[in-house]
Amino acid sequence: MNIGFIGLGNMGAPMAANLVQAGHTVKGFDTVGVTVEGVAPVTDVTAAVKNAEVVITMLPNGDILRAVASKAVPAMAKGATLVDCSTVDVESARAVADLAHKAGLLAVDAPVSGGIGGAAAGTLTFMAGGSVEAFATANPLFDIMGKKAVHCGGAGAGQAAKICNNMILGVTMIATCEAFALADKLDLDRQKMFDVVSTSSGYSWSMNAYCPAPGVGPQSPADNAYQPGFAAELMLKDLRLSQRAATSADADTPMGELAQEIYTAFVEHEGGLGKDFSAMLPRFNHRSRA
Ligand code: NAD
Repeated sequence: MNIGFIGLGNMGAPMAANLVQAGHTVKGFDTVGVTVEGVAPVTDVTAAVKNAEVVITMLPNGDILRAVASKAVPAMAKGATLVDCSTVDVESARAVADLAHKAGLLAVDAPVSGGIGGAAAGTLTFMAGGSVEAFATANPLFDIMGKKAVHCGGAGAGQAAKICNNMILGVTMIATCEAFALADKLDLDRQKMFDVVSTSSGYSWSMNAYCPAPGVGPQSPADNAYQPGFAAELMLKDLRLSQRAATSADADTPMGELAQEIYTAFVEHEGGLGKDFSAMLPRFNHRSRA
């Protein structure tokens, strides 16, 4: 397949490399000149999408996605498919799908879970929104870049699934960290706390797979001085997206709102910028109720 790939950052570069490895022809564009082995570099969006059957975008946010789509869509061949894998707001995902449909293209919003490690290993989870036909076109590529793809519904449904998932993740990471900080003050050994909670009703991905306490549980960013991993500012981005969606859909999400406030303070005032989102644990250790 001829594929255009736009946004070759931490996630996009390894995803594009996996498509090349699987035998696809990939042209890549990024505003910062990036070289990815096997990906033919081009100098603008139009060149990346010309003659592509599928165009994949992996960009920082919804505004950038809209700007790129406004150049990509008119240059794409009729019947081609636009697959956006970035994490963006639901409105932007729907607006881009609408633009694509009006130009006679198929469109899928397909944000991912699994991080940089999953992108490199080809084990991402894709959550997709779009028509059955659009999903069927993109699915063989999801199989290469990931291990699971769920067709969640129409345009925007993939982004909806992503922000709901990450709202739960933000809330459970905070709960796990504050529980460790409480355990410390109660002189409960962290390893014992892990042994109990990871096999009891308080278990979660944050505790079991990504434990925020160094030296406890499986290898995680906590064991690497909280180098990301999944950066606190990206967690904050996703919590802002879920709160924005909650406001526009009139949904009551008090835990998501509080998680957004706590990550805002952490990133903007408490040294969390550039650290993994699990560095919330030392943040709680430094604080007391007063
Ligand atoms: P990144 O910043 O490393 O990559 C984004 C790339 O887009 C950069 O290389 C940037 O130069 C490029 N770019 C910006 N504007 C552009 C434009 N107009 N045209 C072409 N290229 C442009 O970010 P990332 O970590 O690769 O994340 C990409 C997306 O995936 C984000 O939406 C993020 O929320 C999401 N995501 C990231 C992770 C993660 O662990 N990093 C996990 C899941 C989802």
